[in-house]
Amino acid sequence: MATTSFTKKTLGFETVEPAVTPPPPSADTGFARRPKLGGPKSRKREIPEGLWTKCPKCSSMVFDKELDENLKVCPKCGNHFAIGARERIHSLVETCSFEEMDAGMISVDILEFTGVASYKEKLEAYQKSTGLKDAVITGIGRIGEFRVALGVMDFAFLGGSMGSVVGEKLTRLIEAGTDKGLPVIIVSTSGGARMYEGMFSLMQMAKTCAALAYHAKSKLPYISVLTHPTTAGVMASYASVGDLIIAEPGAMIGFAGPRVIKDTTQAELPPGFQTAEFLLDHGLIDAIVPRKEMKERLTFYLDFLTEAKRQTAPAA
Ligand SMILES: [Zn+2]
Repeated sequence: MATTSFTKKTLGFETVEPAVTPPPPSADTGFARRPKLGGPKSRKREIPEGLWTKCPKCSSMVFDKELDENLKVCPKCGNHFAIGARERIHSLVETCSFEEMDAGMISVDILEFTGVASYKEKLEAYQKSTGLKDAVITGIGRIGEFRVALGVMDFAFLGGSMGSVVGEKLTRLIEAGTDKGLPVIIVSTSGGARMYEGMFSLMQMAKTCAALAYHAKSKLPYISVLTHPTTAGVMASYASVGDLIIAEPGAMIGFAGPRVIKDTTQAELPPGFQTAEFLLDHGLIDAIVPRKEMKERLTFYLDFLTEAKRQTAPAA
């Protein structure tokens, strides 16, 4: 699999309010900002781009090259920056073992949705800025000695929102896993269902979970990996029904945003509410795994979860 060049993603996730529909990564109109080419007001011409990134947690300036080599984890404080789907896949699977599925699948603007910008325009802008066709990449690859059906979401594409394409690609992935007798691993990051597709996006919750139910009937394991942030319709469907649910450190995980919950319940929320650490303490997730240990730990879990199946399989 080709590794695309790493793009800087400092999208300010801390401000994300995970309502049913995710806010777009940029704070203003929701349109991906097109790079301005050499306007007189562009300060970026003077500061060389892509050299340093300031860590939002410890405020250190980190060399981008060092950050990339460290899988986008701050070497000083361990803060996990956002990582693109392709980089993530590259960090998990064995070299050249990943075969992508449904790479060309794109959304149809079925509702002809128009807000500040039309859905069609948004899709085109994000396809251009991210190089992705939609918010998930799926395929079959090998982690250690285990072949797995792997789906990885990308927050940079419309806030990792789940529309028909995300739902359909994941469903086909899970079904392929069932057919081929493979474990499924889905790495989630999402602001929730994609409002531009209305009911069609909500339908994906049921569809993906139904496919997972058939997968489970075949006694095959499903590992859900939650990364920052995983919220709303995605957390309320496939992300929370793993046989094992693991998360990256510090990931924000929840359904509605803290402000909505606070307003609804009229109660003070406990400290650390909706973080991976809080949810581990309260039993919603099974483990917190740092990104650099993810591949090794997944291999260990796959070995453990498939042991019985291997022993009962007829000798080849
Ligand atoms: Zn840091």
